[in-house]
Amino acid sequence: MIQARERKYFTPEGQGAPRGSVRGAVRAAIPVLLAAVATAGAQASDHDAAAGVVAVDVGHTLAAPGAISARGRSELEFNRELAAKVVESLERLGLEAVPVNTDGTVESLAARPAQVPHADLFVSIHHDSVNEWELQSWAWNGRAETYSDRWAGHSLFVSRRNPFPERSELCARAIGARLQRAGFVPTDKNARRREYADPVHAVHWFDDLVVLHRAVQPALLFEAGVIKHRDEELLLRDPERQRRMAGEIATGIAACVSVPP
Ligand SMILES: [Zn+2]
Repeated sequence: MIQARERKYFTPEGQGAPRGSVRGAVRAAIPVLLAAVATAGAQASDHDAAAGVVAVDVGHTLAAPGAISARGRSELEFNRELAAKVVESLERLGLEAVPVNTDGTVESLAARPAQVPHADLFVSIHHDSVNEWELQSWAWNGRAETYSDRWAGHSLFVSRRNPFPERSELCARAIGARLQRAGFVPTDKNARRREYADPVHAVHWFDDLVVLHRAVQPALLFEAGVIKHRDEELLLRDPERQRRMAGEIATGIAACVSVPP
């Protein structure tokens, strides 16, 4: 969840222009990569030295665990499970995956990417919620909970204030392409507030997200789905589906980080 009232998650607009230079090679590589990534199968390499290093961040903290699902479970728990599976999938593909905030105690958003400064990509794993006014009440296991069945699906965010905006965007698009080819359906829920970088793959600009623009490496934030949606919550808790989603994310990342700078 990343909502406007969570002020600590982003800083005001207009604090400097995007810092990244236009990287022609990355830009030119996008159509070719997206075509390749959508059709190629994942290929496990035997620890190819050039495979890359990926930081995988568990969004939120024990003290502030994010959104609460339709059945009363914290977003942090969802984020932990999926992040662990993304780490496993990346390692299976021969990449070095470095978990960040697995114990839920890293309060500082800027400190997260700084923990792995040599990473080729920083990925923050989150699960989405809805606005307060969209919520309805129901009872689950004898407890009063809230839900909304209006929106479901994944989405991705990148920042033009990150030092590598084009590489960040490329990786987000590659992940989106893999997910959709595997049958995962994105949401356009977040287009209400966040301009599309790529509408086909549900990649949005969110320039002032601290964890992205303070990153020292290419960075993206992934929202796996809407945990306030009663049916999607159950899908997002399914370990087998988590594994499939993580596998597609890892394959997209592997393709992206293999593109020369
Ligand atoms: Zn979140």
